[in-house]
Amino acid sequence: MLSLPESQLLINGDWIPATDGGTLAVTDPATGEVITTVGAAGPADVDRAVRGAAEAARAWARTSPAERGTVLRAWAGLIAVASEELAALEARDVGKPLSDARRNVWIAHDMLVYFAGMADKVTGATLPSRLEESFGFTLAEPHGVCALITAWNVPALLMMAEAAPALAAGNTLVVKPSEVAPLVVLRLAALGVEAGLPPGTISVLTGLGTDAGQPLVSHPLVNHVSFVGSTTTGKAIMRGAAERLVPVKLELGGKSPNVVFADADLDAALPLIAASITENSGQNCNAGSRLLVHRSIAADVTERLAAIMAATRIGHWDDDLDMGPLASEAQRQKVEHHVQLARGAGARIVTGGSRPEGERFAHGYFVTPTLIDQVDPTMAVSREEIFGPVLTVQEFGDTDEAVKLVDDTDFGLQVGIWTRDVSRALRVVREVRSGQVSVNEPSNVGVIGLPFNVTKASGFNSGGGYTAMREYTAEKAVSMRLGAW
Ligand code: NAD
Repeated sequence: MLSLPESQLLINGDWIPATDGGTLAVTDPATGEVITTVGAAGPADVDRAVRGAAEAARAWARTSPAERGTVLRAWAGLIAVASEELAALEARDVGKPLSDARRNVWIAHDMLVYFAGMADKVTGATLPSRLEESFGFTLAEPHGVCALITAWNVPALLMMAEAAPALAAGNTLVVKPSEVAPLVVLRLAALGVEAGLPPGTISVLTGLGTDAGQPLVSHPLVNHVSFVGSTTTGKAIMRGAAERLVPVKLELGGKSPNVVFADADLDAALPLIAASITENSGQNCNAGSRLLVHRSIAADVTERLAAIMAATRIGHWDDDLDMGPLASEAQRQKVEHHVQLARGAGARIVTGGSRPEGERFAHGYFVTPTLIDQVDPTMAVSREEIFGPVLTVQEFGDTDEAVKLVDDTDFGLQVGIWTRDVSRALRVVREVRSGQVSVNEPSNVGVIGLPFNVTKASGFNSGGGYTAMREYTAEKAVSMRLGAW
C-alpha cells in the first residue's frame, strides 16, 4: 500500500537515510502495529537540508511569480490524482476515518490552488515624497529559507496552509512534521518535487522535536520559523527564534467554546456541536471542547448531547465511521487522566470516559466520547487543552455572563455562537477575545482564504489565509529620486 521508501528523509529532492542511520517507527493507532519506518533526522541532516534550501533560495526567488504559480498548480494536479492514496496515508497514520482525511486532503489541495493564484498578485505601495522629483515604493520580498514545524492532527492541511504561501512568495522550505504522523507530509512533498519544485525548494526532515526541530529553529541560515503545535513547545520555539531575532509565527492550542443561547436551532446545532468534539477524536486545535449553554435549556441540551455522543460510531480508519482512536497511547493517557481528575474534583461524567469494549478496540488507543457537567471554571478539565473527545458543560444566565465565560480561558482560538438573534450574535462576535468566531456553524470549515487567526495563549501570526503572503514576505521600503539634484 505504501508509496514511500522506508526510513528515508526527503532532502534537496533526493530520498536519503539519516546521517547516523536513525529511524522511527510509525504506528497505526487503531492496532498499535508498525506501518513503516521513517528516517530520524539529526543536526547533520538539518544542516544539509537548510544549506540546500539556502542554495536554492536565490534562484527560486528570481523565478517569475507566474512560473511559481504554474509549478504549484501542477503540484495541485498531482495531489488531485493521488488524493485517495494521500487520504489513506493520513487516515491510517492519525487513526481518523477515511472520509475525514479525504476532506482534509482536498482542503489542502484547494489551499494550494488558492495560493498558486496568489503568487502573481503580491503588490506593494507607491507613495509621494515631500521632494518634487522623488517618490517611495515598497517591495514584498521572500524571507529566504523558511522552517515549518507541524503537529500531527491534520498533517496535510497544516503543511499546505504554510507551504503553499511560503513557496508562492518565493521562499524555500524545510519541513519538520510531527513524528506521530509524518507520512502524508513526506508524500505531499515528493509530489511537489515531481511537479517541478527545484531541488532544495522543499525538504522534509522526519524526526523528533529535540533532534530535528530544535536544530532547525536555531540554524543560522533559517530566516523565518512557522510552528503549529502545543503552547508549551511554542514558547520554546519562540525562545529559540528570539536568540537569532528571526520572525516567528505560532499556531498553538485551544479551549474553544460553543455558546448556545435559548433561541438556538437545537436540532441543527447539537449534532454539529457533538461532531466538533468527536471529529478527529477531539484532536483539533479548534475542537469545541467547552459547551456554554443558557440555563433555561441546559438540562435538555445536556441530555440530548449525551445521547448523540453515546451513539458515535467508533472504528478503525478504514471502517470509515464517525471517530477513530487517539493518535497515541500518551494521548489516551492524557485524556483518561483528565477524566479522572474531573471525577475526583466532583464533576459528573454524563456519558463516556471509558474505553470501548470488544476485540476490535483491544489494541488501539480508543476512548469513548465524554460529556462532563457540574464543572466549575477552576477545574483542570475546563481550563486545560485535553486534545481528546471530552466536552464540558457550563451554564450562563445572560449574554454578559456568556461573554465572561467565553473569555475565562488562557486561549483565544475559536468561539462558536448559536442563536437566531443576529444582533446578539454580532454583539458576542465583537466582545469576545478570540482569533476566530463562527455563527451557527462550529468553526470555519469551508472558507478557503479566511485567516486562521489566533490570540492569547493560542499564539499569534501576522496573517494566514488571504493575508498569508504578507507573513511570507518582508517589505522593503525604497525611496528614489528621478530628477537631477
Ligand atoms: P507538540 O508541540 O508536541 O509538537 C509539535 C511539533 O513540534 C512536532 O513536530 C514536534 O516534534 C516538534 N517539537 C517538539 N518539541 C520541539 C522543540 N523543543 N523544538 C522544536 N520542535 C519541537 O504538539 P503536538 O502534540 O504534535 O500537537 C498537538 C498540539 O498542536 C495541540 O496543542 C493543538 O492545539 C496544536 N495545534 C494547533 C493548531 C493551530 O493551528 N492553532 C493546529 C493543529 C494543532
